[in-house]
Amino acid sequence: MGAIAVDRQVNLYGMDVAELEALVAELGEPRYRARQMMQWLYGHGAVDLDRMTNLPKAFRKKLAEKAFIGRMSIADVQVSRDGTRKYLLRTLDGDAVEAVLIPEGDRRTACLSSQIGCGIGCAFCATALMGLTRNLTAGEICGQLAAIQEDTGQRVTNVVMMGMGEPLANYKNVMQALRLLNDPDGFGIGARRLTISTAGLVPGIRRLAEEDLQVVLAISLHAATDEKRDQLVPINRHYPIAQLLDACREYVQRTRRRVTFEYVLLRGVNDGTDDARILAGKLRGLLCHVNLIPFNPVPETGFAPPDAAAVERFRQELAGRGIQATVRRPRGVDIDAACGQLRRKSMR
Ligand code: SF4
Repeated sequence: MGAIAVDRQVNLYGMDVAELEALVAELGEPRYRARQMMQWLYGHGAVDLDRMTNLPKAFRKKLAEKAFIGRMSIADVQVSRDGTRKYLLRTLDGDAVEAVLIPEGDRRTACLSSQIGCGIGCAFCATALMGLTRNLTAGEICGQLAAIQEDTGQRVTNVVMMGMGEPLANYKNVMQALRLLNDPDGFGIGARRLTISTAGLVPGIRRLAEEDLQVVLAISLHAATDEKRDQLVPINRHYPIAQLLDACREYVQRTRRRVTFEYVLLRGVNDGTDDARILAGKLRGLLCHVNLIPFNPVPETGFAPPDAAAVERFRQELAGRGIQATVRRPRGVDIDAACGQLRRKSMR
């Protein structure tokens, strides 16, 4: 009986203001109630309708017959010596996703997942090994952030959509989540502190350039030639580097914002000075920044982290050719921080 009642109810968590307005209108309440509900759901993290004390009791009663607040719960947390916290979160249908909190000075960056698993198949990635199960809903994406904030008692300042999944392959839900993260009545995080990362889905990049929400675009490039990128990031066979960089140039032109390129350095694979030289040539004239990421080992992939000297040579080669690059310190190396590792262990 209970299960049937829940089936008939709608989950409020993840609804945007338009959806809440439609629900409120259906229940005969004024439109501004939707904004009040948003503040409770996302600003105050209410999981109980009775906490929404500025809503009339009779309305809350009607609402409870129609709707519930369903959020993910924390199944496991691993804490690294460097303060990185890796979460395993349980979805309402019993699956699991990962999210990571990376504290650095005043900044607390949450790395969120957009899908359960991933269908892109990058050669060095633990998530790729599980394939794609399904897209996450906007509520499940925001729910990761809510769980992190509740666990730490502190607000997240920055969000990167770089966890499990390809965000642009779940475009609608990811955009709805980003708007809720940005809305002052939602989580209130500035658009410039929201990053969407893609393996290179060219149509999605073009679509993103048309949005009025000016988030940061990061491209997981990882190789300077099609020959290598075809192997490391197989989506390159559909959207080769030249096409991808054309879309990035259009994005910069349209948004006047620089693009970030992520480049995971794998020993003996893509970390040579020749790779750096070719990369610098391709990025010349493009408003961009390169993040160099020494590989965080995933044993099953067979790749190894580069030596420190190779990382520095790579950075200098780019800098000498006018391409700004920063080496990102690997975080959480003593926990299962590489994307996908924790969920794989939990579902075995
Ligand atoms: S690196 Fe990202 S896009 Fe590539 S397989 Fe892993 S989760 Fe998917």
